[in-house]
Amino acid sequence: MSHPPISYSTRPTLRVNLDNLRYNYEAIKARVGTAKIGACVKADAYGLGAAQISRALYGAGCRIFFVATAGEGKILRDSVGPNSAIYVLNGPSPRDKGVLLGAKLKPVINSLEQARFWAQVSGSVNEPPYTAIHIDTGMNRLGFSEEEFKEFARDKKLWNALNPEWVMSHLACAPDSEHPLNAKQLSKFKRAAAQLPMTPLSLANTAGTYLGKPYQFQMVRPGIGLYGGYATTKPEQEDIKTVVTLLAPILQIRNINKGDTLGYNASYTAPRDMQIAVLGAGYADGIPVLSSNKGYATLHDEAVPIVGRVSMDITMVDITDVHMHKEVGGVVVFRGDQLENEASEIGTINYEMLTRLGQRLRRDYGKPEKKETAPKPKSNYQSSKSTRPSTAKTGFQKGGYKKNGGQKRR
Ligand SMILES: *Cc1c(COP(=O)(O)O)cnc(C)c1O
Repeated sequence: MSHPPISYSTRPTLRVNLDNLRYNYEAIKARVGTAKIGACVKADAYGLGAAQISRALYGAGCRIFFVATAGEGKILRDSVGPNSAIYVLNGPSPRDKGVLLGAKLKPVINSLEQARFWAQVSGSVNEPPYTAIHIDTGMNRLGFSEEEFKEFARDKKLWNALNPEWVMSHLACAPDSEHPLNAKQLSKFKRAAAQLPMTPLSLANTAGTYLGKPYQFQMVRPGIGLYGGYATTKPEQEDIKTVVTLLAPILQIRNINKGDTLGYNASYTAPRDMQIAVLGAGYADGIPVLSSNKGYATLHDEAVPIVGRVSMDITMVDITDVHMHKEVGGVVVFRGDQLENEASEIGTINYEMLTRLGQRLRRDYGKPEKKETAPKPKSNYQSSKSTRPSTAKTGFQKGGYKKNGGQKRR
């Protein structure tokens, strides 16, 4: 450790494995058969980078995308070209009207109020974008209430003005296949849909695809499963590969004495003489402050506990017990196939861990994407099966990781 041995940067890296993203897409496709896949790429594709993610999915054959806002849709339009459908989940609003029309985005209509507003907009332009109709079946978040929807379904003029291509709803408890709300929502959804026999239906998010055929209808809307996150309470049933790895460079290695304290607020006191790696990644990069003195990263597949408070640009980990080579410029791994463990350790969920990823991260998407104009041939998917192995061993009982059902991504 007398000299920095290799070339390295102080900047943390987010490695996004697009081969594994495509693997996950194909795995969902295989599971849902003829149902279409509408990829949820809202919130910058869950923090992974909407442009690169959507282009890779487009290359895999995806032509339907969901975002939350018109602004996200506008950005996406540049990535996926004119012949993809982009739906805006949060619906149309007066201020977004121009963006929706300009980028040919399809609003999801969530209420009678939105329906009337968009019918008015549609009436004032040539070739207005088609829509999807969202009905609430038990989430009580967005979507038409049962009564509102009845009124809407009877109003043929309003219905026709909106050109609905899909009727959709969203499951509240899909991760738990035993939850009674799933079947309730399913029957409510079918009852509502029976009022309009001609419109294709969509109900399932990633977790919903595991509830079986009756939940899949004509389109599923996966997000987290594409990005390598477990969606259900039975991860062992899920066929996914790791997509996201956060790599932090070791900036300094220091030996501290028993009784020394670490970092802001001196929140950690060394119980023994220790070796500490100071890493170039902090809460600005998506390592939660809540993981201070709680979370873990891995070095050479060994769990290294976070010690002291996570600061903006720096996190410290205890590497005393790592016996493999340790050096400045070496790389410590966050996320990877331990995403759910890291999340549960601090009481959050994999979705939030992903969307927290910071803007400062250097983003490494592997080999540059070829400009895609047509779906990639099947062989591309086949070759993606032999991608690099996952970054960490399962378990970490030693370091305190929960085992997450003993399951581990490939
Ligand atoms: C985000 C979202 C999804 C995707 O959910 P995942 O759990 O990430 O698969 C699907 N449908 C709607 C309405 C959503 O808001």
